[in-house]
Amino acid sequence: MPLDVPAIRDQFPIFRRRINGKRLVFLDTAASAQKPQPVIDAVVRVWSEGYANVHRGLYTLAEEATEAYEAARVKIARFINAQDTGEIINVRNATEAINLVAYSWGDANIQAGDRIVITELEHHANLVPWQQLAKRKGAELAYLPVTDEGLLDMTALPPLLADGRTKVVACSVMSNVLGSLPPVTQVASMAHAAGALVVMDGAQAVPHRPVDVQTLGADFMAFSGHKMCGPGVGILWGRRDLLEQMSPFLMGGDMILTVKRQDSKWNELPYKFEAGTPPIAEVVGLGAAADFLSEIGMVEIHAHEQRIVSYAMARLKEIPQLDVIGPGPTERGAVVSFSMAAAHPHDIAAILDEDGICVRAGHHCAQPLHDRFCIPASARASFYIYNDEADVDALIVGLQRVIRLLGR
Ligand code: PMP
Repeated sequence: MPLDVPAIRDQFPIFRRRINGKRLVFLDTAASAQKPQPVIDAVVRVWSEGYANVHRGLYTLAEEATEAYEAARVKIARFINAQDTGEIINVRNATEAINLVAYSWGDANIQAGDRIVITELEHHANLVPWQQLAKRKGAELAYLPVTDEGLLDMTALPPLLADGRTKVVACSVMSNVLGSLPPVTQVASMAHAAGALVVMDGAQAVPHRPVDVQTLGADFMAFSGHKMCGPGVGILWGRRDLLEQMSPFLMGGDMILTVKRQDSKWNELPYKFEAGTPPIAEVVGLGAAADFLSEIGMVEIHAHEQRIVSYAMARLKEIPQLDVIGPGPTERGAVVSFSMAAAHPHDIAAILDEDGICVRAGHHCAQPLHDRFCIPASARASFYIYNDEADVDALIVGLQRVIRLLGR
């Protein structure tokens, strides 16, 4: 069933706002998504009706808060088909999730002479932690190249796996710039056959399509709640056997069983990786976001976005001054980045803002990818459940105004 976009939009209070006197056209979900009323209500309910610290208190409020916090973990586990809730670790954002793996698993398992493979299309969050791990350990950091069409060049993977030195492959499930979708299942089976682990960056995928961590063959998956209509919280999913072997990344309260003067014993999963007071209301809000998206249907959301991105790419072709980077609409998610010889991306974004249109401009935390395409920056429009063809039409009108103002 097609999405009822007006009904969905009605549930997001922010769309009642006007920006510079114009209807809000929000095309920056790839950076962070807007929040629907059920998520806002869930967060407010915790703070106004059931707030206390979790896991420690022996009184009613603390028990209720703990129950709500742990119930959200069950919802999140179900959302990505994790085998058990001990594999769901609440962190600050996708960046922290990947850092956790790079420090905890990486420091214990990567040695001098080992190889870490990432791709040219990674967000800095799935690049810098591996780059710095390689530097700490004297390991090699190798990049899987991206083709001119913006797809992963899979012919480069077998040679990188052949000598057995590759210990980990870190790959995005969807590029936040090109929208392209690396064949992560194939990457995982090839990496596993060579004895390497696979860390998937699901920040742009989990909010937009059904993601099943088990069938994808991931060993770790990181994603951000704030990009899926939830509050600012991130999730690390990891295979239980791997998480069991790993040392905590952060140390302190809640992640320990016993502390003696000279030594400590770690708590069980997932608490071993959740040091200190967690973002309680935010996690409960993320559970509500998972419910909200599931009710709409992840298959339906994906189909809707495919329709919008196809329409957007067709309409962007009407503007010959634009250079779109990345593959065609059937090989990408709902993200379109473009540049224009006559206009800096910052100017494009500023002019569109006058029309109430929010797009992102810059390198989108993917500098090596922009270097690969020999551009310093791009403008990016990204789409979600609250966008429709009228938003694309508004973007096209706005871009035509950019051209009138800044030349051809
Ligand atoms: N990976 C990708 C592909 C992203 O798009 C982003 C966010 N732009 C991140 C990682 C980092 O997410 P966060 O800022 O929530 O840590």
